[in-house]
Amino acid sequence: LGNEALDKIAEPLMSGIYNAEADKQSILATFPRFRQLEQQHRSLIRGMIASRRQQASQAAPPSSKAPKIAMFMSLQGGTQELVDTLVSRLEGDLRLGTKVARIQRDTDGQYGVVTQQSEILRADAIILTSPAYIAANLLQEIAPTVSEKLSTIRYVSTGTISLAFKAEAIKRPLHGFGLVVPKSERRPINAITISSIKFDHRAPEGYVLLRVFFGGSRSPETMAFNDDQLLSVIRQELRTILGIESDPLFHRIYRWHQANPQYDVDHLKLIERMEADLPQGIMVTGSAFRGVGMPDCIYQSQQTVSKLLETIQQSEVVG
Ligand SMILES: Cc1cc2nc3c(=O)[nH]c(=O)nc-3n(C[C@H](O)[C@H](O)[C@H](O)COP(=O)(O)OP(=O)(O)OC[C@H]3O[C@@H](n4cnc5c(N)ncnc54)[C@H](O)[C@@H]3O)c2cc1C
Repeated sequence: LGNEALDKIAEPLMSGIYNAEADKQSILATFPRFRQLEQQHRSLIRGMIASRRQQASQAAPPSSKAPKIAMFMSLQGGTQELVDTLVSRLEGDLRLGTKVARIQRDTDGQYGVVTQQSEILRADAIILTSPAYIAANLLQEIAPTVSEKLSTIRYVSTGTISLAFKAEAIKRPLHGFGLVVPKSERRPINAITISSIKFDHRAPEGYVLLRVFFGGSRSPETMAFNDDQLLSVIRQELRTILGIESDPLFHRIYRWHQANPQYDVDHLKLIERMEADLPQGIMVTGSAFRGVGMPDCIYQSQQTVSKLLETIQQSEVVG
């Protein structure tokens, strides 16, 4: 579509979702739909027009009583609710807040999960859901080729700062959920989400909650700023972009070190080769592989569990 479309639309969106550099990113791993549309309709624009028409024809008529599904959803009390609910429903012998130090293979073929407290949990099968570089360390002893491939998956660090304001403090309000910043603008921030518009239950009437994204491949230097430096830089950005002069009612800073996996060109091939080398009974899943969004991670974990159960059933039949 040309450089301007890359600069003003594609790159900021790709970077906003994946915190990745557009020229290194694998389109097949991150936006496979665009490739499909282009191949199917011989042009991206034609493909997008066709899929809009299709969506419109499938949408419920305005008179329909079907509940409207919001474009973005979250949990009322925050994402921690998801973890708390999982913990309350999981059965079995749980070890919460326990770091795994090593994985070993015993002479009888069983695996031993060695915790940092030196407890050894014996298992026929293990699913690793840690970041890829941690899984690489844990698998070094029992699956060196898998470990080597996992260690090549790059990660970047990002941060968010949430700030609350009275609605009237925003002198240049936006119509939408927020904005993504083109790299060519060389700003120290990557995106702003208006959390109180994007999600329900985030701010009372008359107040606005903003979430500013920083760091990543774009502005890694901001990760090294201390809280005061960061707040001052972010407030300057909000002054310029949204015309906010007043102090925030409160703010919270979160830094996510090495938390964003990068799907570089040929990422999916790397994952396929890595999976082919996995020893019997060992599986890996999570955001490093086939999708970084939480729905992608949930889908991948369901697929992984099904695959593992299948291999266990097959080995029982053979045994
Ligand atoms: C700033 C930010 C904003 C995001 N916003 C969204 C969003 O709006 N919507 C969305 O869908 N996704 C969002 N994501 C992406 C999403 O949060 C992640 O992709 C998802 O949490 C990844 O899940 P995971 O289980 O693969 O990895 P993680 O959530 O990173 O979990 C890995 C776990 O492994 C544990 N671990 C590490 N080492 C060990 C060890 N040695 N032993 C035992 N355990 C270990 C860690 O403690 C951690 O709990 C966002 C991500 C970031 C960083």
